[in-house]
Amino acid sequence: MKDYKAWCFDLDGTVYRGESPIAEAVELIGWLRKEGNRVFFVTNNSALTPSRQADKLERMGIVASPEEIMTSSLATAGFLLEQHGRMDVEMIGEEGLREALEGAGHRIVTEGGEAVVVGIDRQIGYERLASACLSVSAGARFIATNGDRAFPTERGFVPGNGAFAGLIESTTGVRPTVIGKPEVHMLAEISSRHDLRKEEMILVGDNYETDIRAGLRFGIDTLHVDTGVTRTADLAGFNEQPTYQLSTLADWPF
Ligand SMILES: [Mg+2]
Repeated sequence: MKDYKAWCFDLDGTVYRGESPIAEAVELIGWLRKEGNRVFFVTNNSALTPSRQADKLERMGIVASPEEIMTSSLATAGFLLEQHGRMDVEMIGEEGLREALEGAGHRIVTEGGEAVVVGIDRQIGYERLASACLSVSAGARFIATNGDRAFPTERGFVPGNGAFAGLIESTTGVRPTVIGKPEVHMLAEISSRHDLRKEEMILVGDNYETDIRAGLRFGIDTLHVDTGVTRTADLAGFNEQPTYQLSTLADWPF
């Protein structure tokens, strides 16, 4: 097993479940830090700011700094800046997306945006969606922070960001550019911000369709852990395999 300089962890199902930490992950992360490795957390969640996400980890006994947290919102803001420069952005989303866009120098507008960015927004109303559709039809760049159509809660599966982006797509006929996993933008952002080469990085995740695919597409090693969405037994059904398959992170030799 290789010695990786930068470990990129998915959160839910890998590091914690809901509000409960996964002990084996906490232990491995502590050991990696002691050994002088870099640790990053890579999440499709667009709603939380890095500092709030770090607080959430801290409450579970996992030391994390905001700089170590890569969200689909940060990667979205960086992607727009790199592709187009500073833009007038019409945003559907919460605090995490607003802070990321403004932090990158974009201006938030309520209509007529040069870009329409869609993250999860639990206060969403008809007017915001209508305005977003009109702007996309008029040629605005259409971005979805992530494509997850549903996410699990105690009540069952509820609409995710991808469901709202899908509504705009079905109204306008325009497909969004998707930023979160399984796309590679968050990993690319970590690599460029922290000057890391691909062979120094590993992605750890529980979901084959998002985490492992993102790592495979980006061209870094991947570790699948059987503590969340995809069961180890089901990995055989996929063409490309992760570099490592573990039932828990306690099985990593440290
Ligand atoms: Mg997960």
